Amino acid sequence: MFFNLHTHRPTLAPGTVEIESVYFGQDKIPVSPRRSVGLHPWYLQEVNWNAGEQWLREQASLPEVLAIGEAGLDKVTATPWELQVRAFQMCSDMAEAFVKPLVIHCVRAFGEILTFKKQWKPAQPWIFHGFDKSAETAGTLLNAGCRLSFGATLFHDNSHAAEALRQTPSDRFLLETDVSDFSIRQVYERAAEVRNIPLADLEQLVEANFRALFG
Ligand SMILES: [Zn+2]
Repeated sequence: MFFNLHTHRPTLAPGTVEIESVYFGQDKIPVSPRRSVGLHPWYLQEVNWNAGEQWLREQASLPEVLAIGEAGLDKVTATPWELQVRAFQMCSDMAEAFVKPLVIHCVRAFGEILTFKKQWKPAQPWIFHGFDKSAETAGTLLNAGCRLSFGATLFHDNSHAAEALRQTPSDRFLLETDVSDFSIRQVYERAAEVRNIPLADLEQLVEANFRALFG
C-alpha cells in the first residue's frame, strides 16, 4: 500500500491512499475519498474571508478531510504578506479546532513559520510538504517537532531533498507526488534507494508514519 500525503492529481489507483489537496476557490472538483483543505497563499487576493472561513469550517468537520492545508507562507508569490499570515493563522486555528494535522506550503519563510509555531504553540502536527531544502534546515524543523514530506525533488541531481531525507529520523517523514508526473510508487522506490533500505521496509515505515498522524 502506498500512502501519498499530498497530491493535486489523484490517480485513484488500487493499492494507494491519496490525500487530495483542495484550496478555497478552486474550480476543479475533488475526486479522492481523502482530502486536505486550506486557504492557499497563492489564491488570496480576491478571497471573501467570511465565506472562506465558513467553507473551511464545514470542510474541516468532514471525516474524509484528514488534514488542513496546504496553508503557509510564500516569499515568492505576489500575495501581500498580511493576507498570507491571516490565512495561515486561520488554517492553523482550524487544525487545532478539528484536531487534524496541518500541511504546510513554505517558500523561503521557514524562520517566520517557526516563529509563529513558537507563538501559537499548536498541539497538532505541522508537516512541511514538498521539502527540498538542506539537511541543516531539515534538522531545524525536526528539532522544532515538525514532520517533512518529500516528493519529486528527490529525483534531482545532487538533490538537497535526498540528503535531507537520508538524515530524517524514520518516524518523521512522509512521501507525496504534489503536481509531479511521478507516481507515488516511483517516489517510494527513489526514497528507498536514498535511504538504502528495501522497498518493503520503506513501505512499512511510511504506513506507520501515516497511521500515526491519520489513524
Ligand atoms: Zn501542493
